[in-house]
Order: sequence, then C-alpha cells, then structure tokens
Amino acid sequence: MKAAVFDGKEIKIKEVPKPHPTITQALIRVKAAGICGTDIAIMKGNLPAPANLILGHEFAGEVVEVGNEVDSSWIGKKVTSEINSNIDFDCFYCKREIFTQCISRKALGIDIDGAFAEFIAVESYLLHEVPESISYEEATFIEPLAAAFQTFEMMPLEADDNVAAIFGLGKLGQLLIQVAKLKGLELVAVDGSEKKLALAKKFGASHVINRIEAKDIPQIIQDLTNGLGADIVIDSSGNPDALKDIISSCRIRGKLHIKSTHGLATPINLTDIVVRELTLYSSRCGPFEKAIGALKSRKIHVKELISDVYQLSEIKEAFTSYEKNRENIKTIIKI
Ligand SMILES: [Zn+2]
Repeated sequence: MKAAVFDGKEIKIKEVPKPHPTITQALIRVKAAGICGTDIAIMKGNLPAPANLILGHEFAGEVVEVGNEVDSSWIGKKVTSEINSNIDFDCFYCKREIFTQCISRKALGIDIDGAFAEFIAVESYLLHEVPESISYEEATFIEPLAAAFQTFEMMPLEADDNVAAIFGLGKLGQLLIQVAKLKGLELVAVDGSEKKLALAKKFGASHVINRIEAKDIPQIIQDLTNGLGADIVIDSSGNPDALKDIISSCRIRGKLHIKSTHGLATPINLTDIVVRELTLYSSRCGPFEKAIGALKSRKIHVKELISDVYQLSEIKEAFTSYEKNRENIKTIIKI
C-alpha cells in the first residue's frame, strides 16, 4: 500500500506492506486524515518519534476486515479511531478508567504507525462508528473536537466563570470557541489572523483581538471585564512567546488552561501565577462520543474550518501549504 512515511528528515510517499489485523484488530481503509500541529512538531524534531513512522492521527475510514475476536458487524462501517493504542487495562490509570493515560499506551501516528496511508490496523476497542450524515472530511475533526470537550471535563465551570479568553484560533481554537459557547461563556478570541478572528466571531466570540496590532492584550481584556481580567484563559496557540500575555490576561483566582505546547520549551514566570493564585489546568484527548454527538446534531460546525484538501500523493505540498499559510486552519488529506 501507499503511505506517507517520515524518515526523520522529510515525509515521503512509499510503498509499504499493507497491515494485517491481529485477532483483536480491525483493518480500516482510510478515507480522510487531517494534518495536526503534532505532525508538524514531529517533523521539526520538537517531539520524538521512531524512525520511518507513518504520521497522521485525525482520521476516518471504512472497516474492511476484522480479526477473529472482533465483532464482524464492524465490517463495512464508517468509523474513526481513538489514538491511544496498546492499552494494558491493568495499570493504575486503567483501573480508574483513564485509558488515555495508560502507562503502556502507544499513540497512533506518534509512537506507532498512523493514518496517512491507504490502510491502518487498529485495536477494535478504539473504534467509534461515524453516522452517515457526517462526511469523512468532517469526521477527521472528531479527535480534536473530543480534545476541545475534554478542556471542560478537566476544568468544571463555577458560578463566577463567565468570560473566557481563547488564545490561538487554529483548528483547536475554533473548536474551543464553539464548545465554550455551548457552555454559555462570553468569549474573547485572540489571534494574528483577521480571517481566523472573523470566523471566531461567527462562531460566537463577542470580542476579538488582533494580537499583531494590539499593544497590550491583558489591558484590553481587563478593560472588557471591569478591570478584572478573564475568568478563564485557554491557550491553544502553541506559541511559548504568547504565554506572558496569556497568564496576565487571567483574573485573580482565575483558571488558566494550557492545550498545546507542540513540544516547545515554555519560559514562564511562576510568580505571575502564584501572586494571583491562578489554577493551572491542562488536558489532552477526550470523549469521542460527545464529539460525534455534537457533530451529528450540528451543534458544532467544522466545514468552515477546512482550508484545503490534498491527495495522499500530494502530502508534501499539503504540509508546506499548512505551514506557510498563516490563514490556513485545517488541511485534509483524502486517501
Ligand atoms: Zn493501563
């Protein structure tokens, strides 16, 4: 089969053996897979990855074969897959049903082969059926949308949590805006792209700040919040240089939630957190069924987030375009 393999230097289309599902796996014919900041971080060497890895972890496809121990009714179904594989169901975290943090876990497209390929074999416990009304392209958003929902699973809202500032309006930021809106929060969106700011406004942000033009972002946010600062500040920018503003935009005893670091070292002044008694949250992965339900009921919109679609054979151009174009939100590979 054809697959996009990262050889440690660059991504190349190669002919590799088609995977055979083990007795507990399902073989998926991949139909669409999204490029994520994590893929870029691996390619830049900011996140470690094994040699000759097939990248890609936001994907959907059709089950074409299953192992002996897997329910054969999966065959022919439109599916997506969670990314944390090789779960032992026995460790400290598994016993508490925190399977995404299993000590044995291996993430698809990060630790083991992923989905920029014609086929991928995944453990059947990772599968989720995708309703027919959700296209394969839309279904590539299920994984990041689940991560957006997880933000609020890890950080329950309290009575005084009214205003959230969201920094970074890429794919995850735009999903966070929509999920935060569903939670009833008033939203301030911060990014350097006018196009992304306009989209955030469409999705429910009441105030937008262009971080390139703005002189003092924390001051602007304080002015919008009776001098207090935002009750919640979420960083989905993956930009370490933005952290000072991010921390300073949060009110005393507010909630600070870090979604993405892209493997970059992040210099922060802890005094800024201590003096104002901020609570620091972080989260990753999330509830797939919640994400599927929100897409199915059209409470969350993702079509507008698709910037371009490439074929697998064009994956190099797709990565180049994704990196170069600051306005680009989500690039999808059709396979
Ligand atoms: Zn475990």
